[in-house]
Amino acid sequence: MAVSGIGKYDPDNIFAKILRGEIPCKKVFEDDMVLAFHDIAPKAPVHVLVIPKGPYISFADFSQRASDKEIVAFNRAVGDIARKFDLDAPGYRLIGNVGENAGQEVPHFHVHLLGGRPLGPMLA
Ligand code: IMP
Repeated sequence: MAVSGIGKYDPDNIFAKILRGEIPCKKVFEDDMVLAFHDIAPKAPVHVLVIPKGPYISFADFSQRASDKEIVAFNRAVGDIARKFDLDAPGYRLIGNVGENAGQEVPHFHVHLLGGRPLGPMLA
């Protein structure tokens, strides 16, 4: 079910549990501010979720409240992970769902990094 992209952060959302180590994930990258792991239901050969470690509900929240340091670290990590999967040359797609109209399901900000095949038009 879609969630709101703004409001109060729910510390029991599934990505918060992954960050606390209460639920396992297939980790692809971690530093002090960012975690990235494979999506449990991949829509492409590469489907990685990149999340900040801070408690941000969506991009709407992150872009407003995160520090410059967190924002830079997050963006740098997304680019580094794409490179790690050799996606720069063939290309890839970044998706950030915000709130109900975008169908956001998990209320912890995440970017989907998709690649490894032609992805077709963005809006089907
Ligand atoms: P959203 O619709 O942008 O919020 O995307 C949430 C994504 O999280 C979906 O692509 C799910 O497949 C993925 N997901 C949900 N639970 C887990 C999990 O436990 N591990 C990895 N990915 C998950």
